[in-house]
Amino acid sequence: MHVADGMWKILDMGSLIFSQWTMLTVVLIRGLAIVWILGIIWVAKDANERIKSVVIQVAAILLATALGPLWVVIYKILRPPHYRKDLLLLNIMRAQVQSCPKCGEWNTLEHQYCSSCGKKIKQSCKECHSLVALTQEYCSNCWAPNL
Ligand SMILES: [Zn+2]
Ligand SMILES: [Zn+2]
Repeated sequence: MHVADGMWKILDMGSLIFSQWTMLTVVLIRGLAIVWILGIIWVAKDANERIKSVVIQVAAILLATALGPLWVVIYKILRPPHYRKDLLLLNIMRAQVQSCPKCGEWNTLEHQYCSSCGKKIKQSCKECHSLVALTQEYCSNCWAPNL
């Protein structure tokens, strides 16, 4: 009888450990599922704010569904650097300033010489003689090529 009692005790301990492992596994899988779903939601929201093409948005979401947290990491590397709503502002800013071809400094469009390195950043158009930034491909006054 004593031997049988001991055996039951060992079996009970074994099943206790086993059931705790199972619970741990359930908790881990549930945790992973939550992380997975949150990843998909985050990618969907972020892709909508950054990517114009609906097809690419859907592709990003599908990849998030398939790869989960792994895709979140890859997506963060691949995604466009700017929000779509900021692109317009960025383009407006670019239209107000010119970058120096020599040092890269931003100068307002009125500048003829770079405020940082002094390089001439405008030349007169061969057709209409208005001042054109060196970085412009065409004269914005008469549309002659800026050679
Ligand atoms: Zn410069
Ligand atoms: Zn011109």
